Amino acid sequence: MDFPYEDYLQMGEDRTSYRLLTKDYVSTVEVEGRRFLKVDPEGLRLLAETAMADVSFKLRSAHLEKVRSILDDPEASDNDRFVAYNMLENAVVAAQGQLPTCQDTGTAIVFAKKGEQVLTFADDARFLSEGIWNTYNKRNLRYSQMVARSMLDETNSKCNLPAQIDLLSIPGDEYKFMFVAKGGGSANKTYLFQETPAVLTEKNLEAFLTAKMKSLGTAACPPYHLAVVVGGTSAETNLKLVKLASCGYLDGLPVSGNGSGRVFRDLEWEKRLLEIARKSGIGAQFGGKYFVHDVRVLRCSRHSASCPIGIGVSCSADRNIKAKITAEGIFLEQMEENPARLLPDASAVNIKPPVEIDIDRPMAEVCAELSKYPVKTRLSLTGTMIVARDLAHKTVAELLAAGKPMPEYFMMHPV
Ligand code: SF4
Repeated sequence: MDFPYEDYLQMGEDRTSYRLLTKDYVSTVEVEGRRFLKVDPEGLRLLAETAMADVSFKLRSAHLEKVRSILDDPEASDNDRFVAYNMLENAVVAAQGQLPTCQDTGTAIVFAKKGEQVLTFADDARFLSEGIWNTYNKRNLRYSQMVARSMLDETNSKCNLPAQIDLLSIPGDEYKFMFVAKGGGSANKTYLFQETPAVLTEKNLEAFLTAKMKSLGTAACPPYHLAVVVGGTSAETNLKLVKLASCGYLDGLPVSGNGSGRVFRDLEWEKRLLEIARKSGIGAQFGGKYFVHDVRVLRCSRHSASCPIGIGVSCSADRNIKAKITAEGIFLEQMEENPARLLPDASAVNIKPPVEIDIDRPMAEVCAELSKYPVKTRLSLTGTMIVARDLAHKTVAELLAAGKPMPEYFMMHPV
């Protein structure tokens, strides 16, 4: 029998549109008749800095075009349309480079594949981290990373480091990257289920995936790019493929299995789950068609006694950007520079006006009025509101645990 090796991840042709960042920092050398690409590590720093800045303020054209298509769909609900319109407005503001696409500026993640004929003579992760550090220090980006001093004592790192940096070695003389800014809410919607092969029937798999997909809910800002991975050589490989698939990084995989163990996309199941998501009625928020933009379903090999199934999303801050370094220079994926081209005039978007609520009245009155409306109702709230997130919740929980009351204003205003 011949040695049956095939690449596990057959990525296909890279159809990404790149822009040249610089021709500096790269050169080539010949060693034993082979061409090697030399990359000055300053180039890695520049690349990471620019990539994290681009991905924080600009989205992919393909993503934004999907958002726009919601406005053109007569089957979209008012809530779908309202969300889509706001997201396009948000993208227009963010593209100006001051306010990022989302207030949760995310964990910085770098997936890189370094050709074995690429020389940097450096600790690449250090230079990539420094580029990320520069971006989060120089731009209006929130620091999201908590570092632990002990099991229960944490503090903000105040620079958004550490980043997740995964470096792989591949054949060739190119260096390929994907940079991601992954928000906490989006990351929290990543699930691994250690199933048994009994789930692998038409009926069981559909019922299982439908239930898990619906359980994602809307907390991670849909419409989602949903990814489902069935199988995997390990639990961690399964989840890594979920992340990469949700970023569209694996779109070029083969669309059939061939018995070699290669990972493939199952287009039939992608269509089926897309249909189920649309008919679920969950929508972009509280009712509609656009719970997801699209679905990727990957099928992988597995141990005969295991069947890991992973599910995850890329949220409406779909912040992924590819890059590459070749002998020709350093290149970054071209993001959408002019999202305003996709934003129609507000008067052309036919959405019923929201219900006006004055929240500066006694809380009992506000509650009585709110209870008249079904959950999906869009409201326009006017008055005093408390903005409080995780740390405020923690502080209030500590007060209550110590037998002390929460601040009185928490009882008087919506949080
Ligand atoms: S889920 Fe995504 S869009 Fe929503 S807050 Fe988190 S990062 Fe932002």
